[in-house]
Amino acid sequence: MCIEKENKDFKNPIEYKLEKKDGNARAGVIKTPHGEIKTPVFMPVGTQATVKAMTREELEEINSQIILGNTYHLYLRPGDDLVNDFGGLHKFMRWDKPILTDSGGFQVFSLGDLRKIKEEGVHFRSHLDGSKHFLSPEKSISIQNNLGSDIMMVLDECPPGLSTREYLIPSIERTTRWAKRCIEANRNKDKQGLFAIVQGGIYEDLRDKSLEELYESDYGFAGYALGGLAVGEPREDMYRILKYITPKLPENKPRYLMGVGEPVDMLEAVEHGIDMMDCVQPTRIGRHGTVFTKYGRLVIKNAIYSRDDRPLDEGCDCYACKNYTRAYIRHLFKAGEILGQRLATYHNLHFLLKLMDNAREAIIDGKFKEYKEEVLRNYAMGKESEWIKPKSI
Ligand SMILES: [Zn+2]
Repeated sequence: MCIEKENKDFKNPIEYKLEKKDGNARAGVIKTPHGEIKTPVFMPVGTQATVKAMTREELEEINSQIILGNTYHLYLRPGDDLVNDFGGLHKFMRWDKPILTDSGGFQVFSLGDLRKIKEEGVHFRSHLDGSKHFLSPEKSISIQNNLGSDIMMVLDECPPGLSTREYLIPSIERTTRWAKRCIEANRNKDKQGLFAIVQGGIYEDLRDKSLEELYESDYGFAGYALGGLAVGEPREDMYRILKYITPKLPENKPRYLMGVGEPVDMLEAVEHGIDMMDCVQPTRIGRHGTVFTKYGRLVIKNAIYSRDDRPLDEGCDCYACKNYTRAYIRHLFKAGEILGQRLATYHNLHFLLKLMDNAREAIIDGKFKEYKEEVLRNYAMGKESEWIKPKSI
């Protein structure tokens, strides 16, 4: 386990307080310039300065403690200068709780032929109009400084899923050099914390290498993230790496697993000591009519729900479930009505936020293992309503 060195140069604007451990699972609080975050926490993704289909008030209703903004998208449109002129992302989108911005790297590295990696940064073409751009560690931080997020991410090289060791080793070393450049480029050290990203694919020794390099050159990272997981590798490999590396991350800093939003994976991550997660999945599948329930996923467009008078998820106390039936929401989807997408999104986000709130309570009570087992037992039953005959109207 790493013990963080004191950095005398500045007081980190992000602080983590561990409240309770149950095995390796942690309940804690992250302090940010825009308020506290109780962990473990799920972070809804607001790619284009909006969590798709949700108003700010709705995000508050479901107790979203922090949301994500996306550097690549906001740089291209409307432009980080414009956001800065409005006083930053918080003021622009009228969200006064914490915001985390990614580095833009994930999107740029996903551009395939549209990008070229060099030591100084990445040349790429916009997916919107083909225009040429350049993203370097300094540029990424400059954009994130303009956006004014509470938590920024270093620009890392995002290797494709299942990359070989030969590919990963120089990539990790570059990620470390870029992380150092990011720290140096941060012009708002007292207001915006910067998270390092540990890479290394599915290899334990490479994960160690990445963590040690970042840690050795610790320039005052506000937290540590795990990148390069949930990118197409088998689930057993992801779990093996999570179990191996998470407990080694500095205990006095928040730990963030990037891009994970499947209930089963989230609980596995919490068990090994992850505090923060994000994913576009709950909003994306919601817009396509798939919702999480206690007993697994449910595809609302299926004919079996046409006369089902139950809520999306029995026992859920969200606005969508308290007020509407499966039959009605199915009808909205079949008719192409926008309200169906809004209700399914609302419910899915509420479901994951509640899952983490309950996990936190279980950790505090020393019963996380029992909680996880119970949730998984129910969830693994799968599409409950397809085998329990719905009450017909
Ligand atoms: Zn609900």
